[in-house]
Amino acid sequence: MSFCKRCGATKEQGLEFCVKCGEVEIAADFWEWECMECGAPMRPDREYCVRCGKAYGFLENEDIPSGTKNTIFEMIREGVNDNKHPFKIASDLFHTFGELNFDWQRIAVTECAIIKGDRYVLRLLEHQEIRKKNETKVLGTSAVDACPWCKENIHGKVFFVISEDEAPLNVLNHPMWDTHLWRGKRNFNRYFSKYKVRRSLNDEIEILPRPQEEIAKACFGGAHPNCRCWFTPYFDGMKIGADGYVIP
Ligand SMILES: [Zn+2]
Ligand SMILES: [Zn+2]
Ligand SMILES: [Zn+2]
Repeated sequence: MSFCKRCGATKEQGLEFCVKCGEVEIAADFWEWECMECGAPMRPDREYCVRCGKAYGFLENEDIPSGTKNTIFEMIREGVNDNKHPFKIASDLFHTFGELNFDWQRIAVTECAIIKGDRYVLRLLEHQEIRKKNETKVLGTSAVDACPWCKENIHGKVFFVISEDEAPLNVLNHPMWDTHLWRGKRNFNRYFSKYKVRRSLNDEIEILPRPQEEIAKACFGGAHPNCRCWFTPYFDGMKIGADGYVIP
């Protein structure tokens, strides 16, 4: 058990901030910037705020005209079709949209993963139809140095793969969001924290439990920017060890 350095409250396991006072406790020597949503210090290599869970780096989160956004998406899609490396796509984007001050490398890597993830789902479902199977399952695997969220929510977990028609698209707190994956499932407007952080006018922080419909879920092609988790076909009878990997 550990305690908050600032207020002494018991620290909840797996969380990098105190649920009582909001103190962010990541061991880092420098903060490059602050979370735009809650003001918590952010490490430059983090793709989401450890306190309020806001994700940074998804192109869909960026405040740019939808026409420009579509052109960017189109360029990335064409790049993937031409088998271009994400870094090459990033440099093409930089040369076309240089006046937009974006981290093109992060955007290209993230969006390429989304496109490839969506195509992978299509192939899995085609395979299901050809083989006349009635379900498709996949096992999630995270890199050894993956973030705590991915290790808890993706690594070693088995998910059902379904088509968009079967997905609870309009029921954002449906339990299938925890157990099923589908094409187009994204974490837009969802947060990587079980808590909601509110800042009052006198800068005090209030922490409340976050409703299910606002909590990020596992999905193909990266649950958050720079997520490198992957999914492999899972068959009944496969045994998964305590380390989250299939036992040979
Ligand atoms: Zn505290
Ligand atoms: Zn935040
Ligand atoms: Zn991940």
